[in-house]
Amino acid sequence: MSMVYVALISYTPDPERTIAAAARVSTSPARASQLMQKLSPQAVDRLLSRLISSGHLSPFEHASFTFAIEGISRVTSHQLVRHRMASYTQQSQRYVPLKEFSYITPATISAKREMEAKYHQGVRAAHHLYLEMLDAGIPAEDARYVLPQAGETGLVMTMNGRELIHVCSLRLCLRAQWEIVELFEKVKAEVEKVAPHLGAELKPKCYRLGYCDEAESCGIFPIAVEMGERR
Ligand SMILES: Cc1cc2nc3c(=O)[nH]c(=O)nc-3n(C[C@H](O)[C@H](O)[C@H](O)COP(=O)(O)OP(=O)(O)OC[C@H]3O[C@@H](n4cnc5c(N)ncnc54)[C@H](O)[C@@H]3O)c2cc1C
Repeated sequence: MSMVYVALISYTPDPERTIAAAARVSTSPARASQLMQKLSPQAVDRLLSRLISSGHLSPFEHASFTFAIEGISRVTSHQLVRHRMASYTQQSQRYVPLKEFSYITPATISAKREMEAKYHQGVRAAHHLYLEMLDAGIPAEDARYVLPQAGETGLVMTMNGRELIHVCSLRLCLRAQWEIVELFEKVKAEVEKVAPHLGAELKPKCYRLGYCDEAESCGIFPIAVEMGERR
């Protein structure tokens, strides 16, 4: 069962205006501080649309978003931290001994009763051995080698607007794994609350490309080869 929880805990004040003011600095005689006050909400909106459609994404780096992320598996946190243009601080299994072991159970496993029972048995057996090792004086940093990737973890993640657009283009794609898709659906929902224009731009890459560049399409857009054949 998924337990993904995401909360936006901090962000650049007035993020979209900040992005727009930064973008206007390059073409306006006015200073950024003046632009921050002068730009109308409509002008901010127009500027953001133009930046997106022209692919001029560097101004989006000036708005940054910090999220508390909880209830994801270590499978997903491992996938997440491959995105290097972001900052992460994760709960340590070296310093925090896991007396209780919360873990994620994928729906495909829950759907098969017999397998689900064996899964829980396997995970609990691994945790039992972990506790036994702690009791035997083995440090948590070594005992943890026996723990499954299903283990629940929590972290704080900071990404700027440009990286959010990029990572969502990869991880909102339905070819990505369900748990990380769900994580970024929740990230998107949090961003939409404070930066609706940017939030709306957090979408799978196919929406920008107009076709699917994966080997197999989920059905939203045809794959590039099929598009070519149709021409
Ligand atoms: C559906 C899916 C399946 C995946 N499967 C696998 C897998 O099986 N095995 C696996 O190992 N990974 C896998 N990955 C991870 C993938 O290979 C990337 O590491 C991950 O998506 C991070 O990509 P990123 O563009 O955010 O890269 P980052 O490493 O964060 O880099 C960001 C951007 O900076 C640039 N950049 C960064 N470093 C360099 C560099 N050294 N040289 C030149 N340009 C650079 C690139 O433009 C890059 O897009 C998968 C990812 C997805 C989305």
